[in-house]
Amino acid sequence: MSGYYPWQETHWRNLAERLAQDSLPHALLLHGPSGTGKADFAAEFARSLLCQQNQADGQACGRCSSCLLYAADNHPDSHIIEPEKEGGPVKIDQIRALIADIGLSSHAGGYKVVIIHSAGAMNIAAANSLLKTLEEPPAKTLIMLLTEQLSLLPATVRSRCQLLRFNLPDSAIAQNWLAEKLLENGGNPDAAPDLLAIANGAPLIALADAEKDRPALRQSLLEALVGLAEGRLDPVKVAGEWLKLEQPMPIKYLHGWVSDMIRLRQVPASFADNIKYKKVLQSLCRDVELQKLYIYLDRITESLQLMAQLNPLPVIESLLIHWANMPKQKTIMQG
Ligand SMILES: [Zn+2]
Repeated sequence: MSGYYPWQETHWRNLAERLAQDSLPHALLLHGPSGTGKADFAAEFARSLLCQQNQADGQACGRCSSCLLYAADNHPDSHIIEPEKEGGPVKIDQIRALIADIGLSSHAGGYKVVIIHSAGAMNIAAANSLLKTLEEPPAKTLIMLLTEQLSLLPATVRSRCQLLRFNLPDSAIAQNWLAEKLLENGGNPDAAPDLLAIANGAPLIALADAEKDRPALRQSLLEALVGLAEGRLDPVKVAGEWLKLEQPMPIKYLHGWVSDMIRLRQVPASFADNIKYKKVLQSLCRDVELQKLYIYLDRITESLQLMAQLNPLPVIESLLIHWANMPKQKTIMQG
């Protein structure tokens, strides 16, 4: 994610103003129900605090060396604390190590930022240890504590932080945002109100629910692509199946896979963290000329535009026939 969510605008503007006036508090306690994006907000604000070239609205530039380090989870002035095991406690050793770290001067000469996830999971010893730092905070350090339930934190800790409440967003704002996300991901935007209702109004939970069914579907579409390349499947029949899905989702996926094939051909080390997917991609594009992949990608892009205006079936058929008949290098060399 880059940027904060639309329902967080007031919080963002207030903090950005205080930063501009050099009057940020030392500690913020972000609290409220899950699915409202507290963690994303904290990460985004940390990023902007560390950025060396903030934009006018206080958002991070995304290009400076700090932003790049932050994006790689490697910024020396960014500290993240969370329970070692999900549902487990935040321990005193973690807080002690943190205090030692932030006692040192900043590496980049600017702010040091701490995010403590599940702050309510700090055990008493950890909370007491943090309390001393909250009472005598190091200069230019912002500590952000996150919790769904304020009552989980000792009153002594709460009183040392500025509270920032994250409510469930207004339903119109949440619906608009969710509909847009669904559309971007190839889903049905009209499902937004129902999904939100099921998620009790929490937009991030609604989005996660909507995406749950996607992995299995993606896998079956990718398998169809393999079947077509191997000549086992009939492109016209597969196009008929794809037509039954929300459009243009399958073609957007196809676009993603062909882009990934091109990336893999150019940077063979890509997708090292997803070997299974990499093997599928390799088998799909190994024998295809790179130039042919580029031409095909252009065609998919054009087709995505056409599908908005024309009957999608012939467009999908023609794309899949193209894929099934993609000239292979070997064939060309033999011929
Ligand atoms: Zn930056």
